[in-house]
Amino acid sequence: MIIAIDGTVSSGKSTAARNVARELGLLYINTGLMYRGVAAYCLKENIDTADKEKVAEAAASLKIDLVSAADGQHVLVNGTDLTAEAKGPGITVAVSDVADNVKVRERLVAEQRRLGMEAKPGAVMEGRDIGSVVFPDADIKFFITAPAEVRAHRRYLEFLENGKKVPEETVLAQVLERDKRDRERPVGALVKMPGAVELDTGDLTREEVTERMVREIRARKITGD
Ligand code: C5P
Repeated sequence: MIIAIDGTVSSGKSTAARNVARELGLLYINTGLMYRGVAAYCLKENIDTADKEKVAEAAASLKIDLVSAADGQHVLVNGTDLTAEAKGPGITVAVSDVADNVKVRERLVAEQRRLGMEAKPGAVMEGRDIGSVVFPDADIKFFITAPAEVRAHRRYLEFLENGKKVPEETVLAQVLERDKRDRERPVGALVKMPGAVELDTGDLTREEVTERMVREIRARKITGD
């Protein structure tokens, strides 16, 4: 069983995906972390992420594993945990380059399909192109979003929690820029698929989001309970 969750940056989709997976006993797969892992590896090895051929060549031979830890999912690249680098503030440009690289996408999409198909009894997979490219036949598709101002405010608070004071209008500009890149990417662009369940998390708590999604999934009678 595959539950596809796509959505905009900082829409709350990672938290929702993790909670839904826990609630239903499914494997959680954060595909964004795989793109981040490749980007972190490139930075570590001084590979210029703008050099598409070099990045594709490097990505082709990398072993990328997602593992669950107490503080969330981690990414191992060739056995080395690169999670901190992959989620750090220095990764933004590199990860966008990597996500725009068609050959890297082919490699990671194949890997994501394998992970999803091997997961028993199924997986909750989260990203931008899960319902459109990775699993167009997913049992259920969600499209998660929230107004840009709400998402920017959440990121602003997250930065503050981590000791970084970034002006809120700067964060909003970054969110809008990332939305644009996500929607305009030539391959694997973010789209709401026909039939996808759209959820605006702007006025909902994390618990409410999870509850609504689980209710939708159970209503489809795809979980066997
Ligand atoms: O979701 P997250 O912000 O961690 O994703 C990291 C990067 O990978 C973003 O630039 C996003 O657009 C990209 N991505 C993608 N396809 C996916 C998941 C993430 O292009 N399935």
